[in-house]
Amino acid sequence: MIRGKAAVFFGPGRPLEIRELTLADVEPDAILIRVSLANVCGSDLHFWRGDAPLKLPADGWIFGHEMTGRVARLGVRVKTDSLGQPLKEGDRVAYAYFYPCGRCPACLGKEPAACLFKVGRPLGPSEFPHFHGAFAEYYYLKPGGAIFTVPDALADDLVAPVNCALSQVIFGLHKAGFRFGDTLVIQGAGGLGVQAAAVAKDLGAQTVIVVDQIPGRLELAKAFGADHTINVKEVADRRERVKLVRQWTGGVGADVACDLVGFPAVIPEGIEMLRSGGTYLEIGTISRGAKVELEPALLVWGTKKIVGVIQYDPWVIPRALDFLVRTRERWPWHRILSHKYPLEQINEAFEASEWHNRETTTITRAALTP
Ligand SMILES: [Zn+2]
Ligand SMILES: [Zn+2]
Repeated sequence: MIRGKAAVFFGPGRPLEIRELTLADVEPDAILIRVSLANVCGSDLHFWRGDAPLKLPADGWIFGHEMTGRVARLGVRVKTDSLGQPLKEGDRVAYAYFYPCGRCPACLGKEPAACLFKVGRPLGPSEFPHFHGAFAEYYYLKPGGAIFTVPDALADDLVAPVNCALSQVIFGLHKAGFRFGDTLVIQGAGGLGVQAAAVAKDLGAQTVIVVDQIPGRLELAKAFGADHTINVKEVADRRERVKLVRQWTGGVGADVACDLVGFPAVIPEGIEMLRSGGTYLEIGTISRGAKVELEPALLVWGTKKIVGVIQYDPWVIPRALDFLVRTRERWPWHRILSHKYPLEQINEAFEASEWHNRETTTITRAALTP
């Protein structure tokens, strides 16, 4: 019998509440993880804020997904991680928080990230296996979940963003066909944006331009490799911003631009910042129902495409870990996590992470230490 605390979400505007849960046993192919760090990700903020309608279970929802931890209990049939390396209780691990079904056209076509069934409906604390999310002492990795041991060289602070923000941007740039020598516009200098800058430079980007409205975030993007930044508060005219991007990309526009903001109003401008033939990578706007007006002829005459990506194929995680090992001196990774809170202070952590409609923020990413 395993007992542990979890934070339960009852809807926007209501405080999360800590509950004690019990789990009878771990299935033969599952793994129970003792969560060391659970970050407040931008998409958690969307749910918390109520940016989109969300149907919650009557007994609340246990959420959170960007995290790292240690193996607390291995199912009896689990002997190795997803790369075949020996896995034992106590090992530090990085793991995916979604589960491609293995039996659908996307899975059959070896595109697990496109599986429609990889994330189930929100589950409450009463439903097995109870520990559904990161904001808890334990996380239950379901049978078949992708899991990888973590190199000793990496501190937990660096590993916590791996299974969401970092893998998300690596896979997104991969799907957008980002190549050596390409130019990139990143809209949004939050956790995803700054890590995308570093990944793009490691991939051999010619120029990385980051757009945001908070000076501290733009400064951090520069520290993570951005060549140019645009503060939309300072360059208030959209045409001026597009002109700047042209100027910094040899007069043609960027090969790839990406929405890492999460508010769809930025999308038409990002598409305009592309060169003819360029690709727009849509990751940020996860809120269902959020809309934007778009002129399709701009895609047609510009031969531009839009690529939408949510989550990633699991092969990305070990590459993300390797990337951190080889760039841990190059980029200030220790600046990604700026604040830590015990699980009991989860409401303070969300309050402090809120950046929307704020002029300044001192927080990059807050983490819970359950
Ligand atoms: Zn996330
Ligand atoms: Zn599937």
